[in-house]
Amino acid sequence: MSCKLTQRFVSGYLDGELDLSRTIEMETHLHVCGECSEELAKQQALRAALQRSSLAYAAPDALRERIQSSLRASIPAEAPEKAASSWNPFQFLRWAGAFAVLALCAVTAWQLLPGLRGPASDQQLAAEVLTSHVRSLEASHLMDVISTDQHTVKPWFDGKLDFSPPVEDLASDGFPLVGGRLDYLEGRQVAALVYQRRKHFINVFVWPDTSGSGSTQSIQPQQGYNMMRWSHGGFQFWAVSDVNAQDLADFVRMLQARIAPETK
Ligand SMILES: [Zn+2]
Repeated sequence: MSCKLTQRFVSGYLDGELDLSRTIEMETHLHVCGECSEELAKQQALRAALQRSSLAYAAPDALRERIQSSLRASIPAEAPEKAASSWNPFQFLRWAGAFAVLALCAVTAWQLLPGLRGPASDQQLAAEVLTSHVRSLEASHLMDVISTDQHTVKPWFDGKLDFSPPVEDLASDGFPLVGGRLDYLEGRQVAALVYQRRKHFINVFVWPDTSGSGSTQSIQPQQGYNMMRWSHGGFQFWAVSDVNAQDLADFVRMLQARIAPETK
């Protein structure tokens, strides 16, 4: 798939509107093309900003119905076979226009009213981490590289990320490394390492840390998932899982002990 086509389909891809073969084509291209993954990351960041709780505003049903019926009314009656076709560029343009207006209002509100920007960034990040974790389990997209060997997983990230994440297997501690994948948080590419605890998975998200704070924090459990964040050796880490809080804390402690502080 070309860059032009990929970037045109990014919104559809994020909305899960592409068919399977197009999705696979997209993902294959995104893995090898930095420019297009950057475009995807940008759109994800914009969406994340728009969806933050204090901004997210569901249109009342009445409004939605009014927009839909006025859209229907503005489209000339069509022959049945044409109406049945799934792709109508004019209809698409009208929807795109309506969406653009709503998005512009939201962005303007966001920029003009700092008080509306929502909770602290840790909570926003926690929400993104949780979403990524749940999505990775649901979409059978848990791993791009399946291996219990850290010497296979670590080099796999080379060339796909602008940093080299520390990768440690914790099989001897009861938390085997099972694979890894690329993911996106806060609009940037991050490494996701996948560990297993019995039948549960732990996602560890890693990216370079610029803040330099070394403290380990438990995040308030959300929807039955436990989360911890810390920074270590120049990296920011977030671990998320449905294992119990004690198991997750043990895991984090053992992982921290494995990763040498000088790792960069
Ligand atoms: Zn491209």
